[in-house]
Amino acid sequence: MEERGISKQELKSFLKAQKQRDLTYQKVLSSMCTYPHEIAVYAHNLFLDSNLGDSGLFPGTKEIEDELIRMIGALLGNENAHGYISTGGTESNIQAIRAIRNRKRKEGLQQMNIIVPKTAHFSFDKIEDILSLEVKKAGLDDELRVDVNLVEELIDDNTISIVGIAGTTEFGQIDPITELADIAHNNDIFLHVDAAFGGFVIPFLDAEYQFDFSLDAVSSISVDPHKMGLSTIPAGCILFRDESYLADLAVNTPYLTTNEQCSLIGTRSGAPVAATYAVLKYLGRNGLRAIVDECMQQTRMLVRGAKAMGIYPVIEPVMNVVTLLFPDVDRVAKALEARGWRVSTTRAPKALRVVIMPHVTEETIEMFLNDLENAK
Ligand code: PLP
Repeated sequence: MEERGISKQELKSFLKAQKQRDLTYQKVLSSMCTYPHEIAVYAHNLFLDSNLGDSGLFPGTKEIEDELIRMIGALLGNENAHGYISTGGTESNIQAIRAIRNRKRKEGLQQMNIIVPKTAHFSFDKIEDILSLEVKKAGLDDELRVDVNLVEELIDDNTISIVGIAGTTEFGQIDPITELADIAHNNDIFLHVDAAFGGFVIPFLDAEYQFDFSLDAVSSISVDPHKMGLSTIPAGCILFRDESYLADLAVNTPYLTTNEQCSLIGTRSGAPVAATYAVLKYLGRNGLRAIVDECMQQTRMLVRGAKAMGIYPVIEPVMNVVTLLFPDVDRVAKALEARGWRVSTTRAPKALRVVIMPHVTEETIEMFLNDLENAK
């Protein structure tokens, strides 16, 4: 840092120039983020100085968060769920597993493990490291859902939790949560559902999937407003079936306005909390359903267009993620990148991965299919 500051004008033009170097989302098909809704941006800006890490100073924001947790809980089958607005799926997953780890540690268990699908997000690798427990990875069935028989085989006396993914990061697949719930119930273990992506999609799909608190054995759910909830970044949400799990996370907080804190981070912005509340209140379930409908229409359009070129998806899309098989995926991804697109690739099977977020319009898909024809 220099001794003397620079002028606002100089700074602003520097910031604008840097911002222009960033991509806009228009041709970004690799991300699970999108433009936040304008009402979310408005609310975010209004609450920029609010710190929920010391929530006694911000009772207005705290009340919004409590109501928001009730709203998201009700969407996911339990309006009495408890939790908080986190920084995203990673923090939510860490906190879900940390709660049950702490509970079992108090009961005297030393060596612990959890079982996740092979398709689990890499946040579970961080969990293995941070929480000092083993993360066992269960194989998949032909449709890339976790194979429940393999999950059962991996369970031992030290297994404290199994995890199901409702909307896998790479393939947008939904694990058989009902069957995982039976396994969790029969073995008396915790079931965490990672619906970071799917939580704001699955309730609005034409097909019905059971994946939330309406299944008695589901103990916690991660769901990210900053993905398909059109909120500002960083907005995740961790929900527990009941309040007792929050006690497993609580630490005493001397010198603050509250006695204890359950979040992983300390200072915690109220801005994305207000943003999430605003966008969900503004859109309502009908608005969210319309957004999911649009994304699914574009998803089907892309698959139809690809099939017409002789390119087939790894699985028929369950939600708004399309994975396409090519003999030479990396070459195609590079050729698309040269045309301004950002796509990603999956690991196994290797495929081109396209996420159809709300910024993807019919025109986007038309242009993309054109370029795909030339790139393949
Ligand atoms: N879980 C799933 C299923 C995800 O798709 C992601 C991110 O894409 C995460 C967790 C991690 O979310 P974040 O990047 O917001 O921490």
